Amino acid sequence: MSSRLAPSVTADTQFFWDGVKEHRLLIQGCVGCGTLRHPPRPMCPSCQSFEWDTAEASGRGTVFSFVMPRHPALPGFDDGYVVALVELEEGTRLVTNLVRVEPAAVSIGMPVVVCFEEFDGGLVLPMFMPEDRP
Ligand code: ZN
Repeated sequence: MSSRLAPSVTADTQFFWDGVKEHRLLIQGCVGCGTLRHPPRPMCPSCQSFEWDTAEASGRGTVFSFVMPRHPALPGFDDGYVVALVELEEGTRLVTNLVRVEPAAVSIGMPVVVCFEEFDGGLVLPMFMPEDRP
């Protein structure tokens, strides 16, 4: 295992990180109109309702966009890592890392599936890998 900076958890994002710890990817959804949203926030952007619950994502999605940061080097990140914006099949997008793939093999629209990576101190982060990977 290696170390990674933990996310700052707030009252709005607590459910998301609790789900990740249980290896579940949860999406916030509006009780009023059903619109899903991510990142979590208090109010629905469609109908302004403050009532929400959560839906469990399938974990499947596609690469919407990606970058390979080079500089500055960050603690906990190996050289040649990939930061991606993944569009889940439910329609919301999240910023994540792609793992178990050569950076040169990453492409827009590539099918990916969630995996839960464990780090020092019990930290779990949701990342994505190519869907065809065993
Ligand atoms: Zn709504």
